[in-house]
This record gives sequence, C-alpha cells and structure tokens, in this order.
Amino acid sequence: MARFHTLTVTDVHKTIRDAVVLTLAPMGGDFDFVQGQYLTFRRDFDGEELRRSYSICAGKDEGILQVGIKRVDGGTFSTWVNENIKVGDQMEAMQPMGSFHTATSENDGKSYLAFAGGSGITPILSILKTVLTREPNSEFTLVYANRGVSSIMFREELEDLKNLYLGRLTIIHILETDSQDIDLFTGRVDVEKCALLFKHWIDIKSVDMAYICGPEPMMLTISKSLKDHGLDDNQIKLELFASGQPGRAKRKAKSVDAASHTGTTKATIIMDGSTRSFTMPKDGVTLLEAAIENNIDAPFACRAGVCASCRAKLLEGEVEMVANHALEDYEVEQGYILTCQCYPMSDKIVVDYDQ
Ligand SMILES: Cc1cc2nc3c(=O)[nH]c(=O)nc-3n(C[C@H](O)[C@H](O)[C@H](O)COP(=O)(O)OP(=O)(O)OC[C@H]3O[C@@H](n4cnc5c(N)ncnc54)[C@H](O)[C@@H]3O)c2cc1C
Repeated sequence: MARFHTLTVTDVHKTIRDAVVLTLAPMGGDFDFVQGQYLTFRRDFDGEELRRSYSICAGKDEGILQVGIKRVDGGTFSTWVNENIKVGDQMEAMQPMGSFHTATSENDGKSYLAFAGGSGITPILSILKTVLTREPNSEFTLVYANRGVSSIMFREELEDLKNLYLGRLTIIHILETDSQDIDLFTGRVDVEKCALLFKHWIDIKSVDMAYICGPEPMMLTISKSLKDHGLDDNQIKLELFASGQPGRAKRKAKSVDAASHTGTTKATIIMDGSTRSFTMPKDGVTLLEAAIENNIDAPFACRAGVCASCRAKLLEGEVEMVANHALEDYEVEQGYILTCQCYPMSDKIVVDYDQ
C-alpha cells in the first residue's frame, strides 16, 4: 500500500508575511479528513528525506484541503515551502491523521473554548469552522495569542467568521507587544491572565470542551489553569507541534518477563496484512528504527513522540515508551504505542500497525 500520495498545489496565498496557505488537490488516496487532523509531507533535501506534519486548516464542510505553514527561522521544510511553492507544483503527503478532535452532533448545544498560539491556529480553525457549521446550537470562544497584529494568521478570515456567526463566535486576541484598548489583552497568556479571563470574559463553568495548540510552555500553563478552574482531563485536548519536554502518560514496563535475560528481542510486525519478524537489540534502537533497518516501510514523521504517524498496537510483550505527546491516555490503556519512542523490554513482542 502506497503511504504517500501526490497532491497538486492549486492555490498559494500568504496569510501573513511569513506564512502561506496551500490548497491541495489529491491525485489518489483517501484524503477525507476529520477536523483538527494533519498531513505528513515528505521531501528530499540534499539527499536526506525530511518528513514534516502540517495541520489541515479547512473546515470539514468546505470541500477543500488546505494547510497553513509558518516559516520557522532556519527551518528547512517551512522555509522551502514559503519561498518556493507555487501553483501547479506537486507535493507528497500521507493521508490525514491525528486525534485532535471530538465528535460533533447536530443536536448538541455545547460551549467550546480554544486557545491558539501563532501557527497553532491551523487545527483550531478547522475545528471551529466545522463545529459552528455542524452544531447550530453550539458556541465557540477562541483566545488567540500572537506577538503583534502583523503575526495574526487568518486575521481577515477570523473577522469574517465572527460576522457570519454573530453571537456564537467570540474571538479574543492577546498580543504580546502591540497594546490594545483593554490592558488584559496585551502580554503573554500566563496563569494570572487566564484567571482574569475566566473571571471577566469567559464563563469557564459552562465550558464543555477545550482545545489548546501553540508553544509548549503556553499549552502547559493554560491546561493547568483550566484544570484549576474545574475542567477535567477529558475536557481538554492538546495538539503539540514541537517537543522540548518529556510527555505525559508514558507507557512504563509493567512486568518485565521473568525469563527475559537476553539482550535481544524477537519483534513481529503486522503491517498491510502481512507479518514479518526480525531480531533486534533491547537497547539503543527504537522499534521504528529496527523495523526500517529490516526494510519494513513503517510509517513515521516527527520521530519525537509528537505526531502519531508511527502509532501501532502492542499485541504481545512489553515495551518502554520514553516519550508520548500524541496518544491519549485511553489509547495507551488499549495498548497503542508510538513506535518511534519504544524500546522492547521482553524477549518477544508483536506489534500491529493495521489496527
Ligand atoms: C502534528 C503536528 C502538526 C503541525 N502543524 C503545523 C501547522 O499547521 N503549521 C505549521 O507552521 N507548523 C506545524 N507543525 C510544525 C511543523 O511540522 C515543523 O515542525 C515546522 O514547520 C518546522 O519544520 P522545518 O523543517 O521548517 O524546521 P527544522 O529544519 O526542523 O528546524 C526547526 C528549528 O530547529 C533549528 N535547527 C534545525 N537544524 C538545526 C541544527 N542542526 N542545529 C541547531 N538548530 C537547528 C532551526 O533553526 C529551527 O529553529 C506541526 C507539527 C506537528 C507535530
């Protein structure tokens, strides 16, 4: 099964000076997506293949596939896209992935709250548009943090949406450097600012679901503030774009096989309906690396436990997952692992990429 598919770029426009929005037409593969999911692209740079994930910013009912890519200083892929991509070019991407979403229902009348920082707006824009279209009785509050006015991605589109969904969509821009009429809206989103927002602007008690996507320290601060103000873990969804810290919910080895004294593991991989086995060391090589070394075309992207491209289910044996920023706790409970972060603990493991 081909994991990567060709997409033709049908539109390119700048949303701010250093970020482009690409509209893509798939030439094969099923690119039906759920709001909040991302695409993983690949490209060779001087003989080295890089894979980068970008969230879909289109709503589910818009009938288009769009991503927004912000140029990172010194960043290889994002700079290449921002400086080179033009209409008619072709890109390669995997089918949409990710679980940064919750189900919508026409009869629901929910209150959603989202915090986005910088390019973290992309999946939230997709969620926001989908929810407001599909749930006529729901309302959405977006708190969008940026350095200044000139770095607000999708500024005009957000204004248009506010007018379209008058009374159902509230947008609060927090700007780090540009001052605004209301003092509270200037500066960084920290614990104090969250507390004041929840006191004066956001009815936190009525919030059913919260989404956060942005720089990691900001996400951790907001997540803690939400919990301090009464939300529980399953009311908060996080999407991390890059990782600097160990993640939550590591899958620790529960009971290392008593007979496990050898330094190697027999790994069995089920993928695309076929089963392959190989022997790998218990130390020094992740399950993903070992699979690739053994010529198995296992899926991956970030290799940092941030995206879930390499997700698989552990059917037998024990592994240690050293970082996890992508799987939900319930997925870990069900046996799902990020193979890029896993080292075998038992003499035999069986891993299924097809589930
Ligand atoms: C699930 C997911 C969704 C995402 N969605 C989006 C999105 O919608 N929009 C978006 O803009 N981004 C998104 N990202 C982030 C994106 O995938 C990339 O991480 C980002 O664009 C940077 O990639 P790059 O190749 O340009 O930078 P890289 O080349 O990876 O560089 C990143 C940083 O590291 C520095 N660096 C690189 N090499 C070195 C070195 N050798 N020594 C020291 N420093 C170095 C660079 O200067 C730069 O600051 C998402 C990430 C994930 C995981």
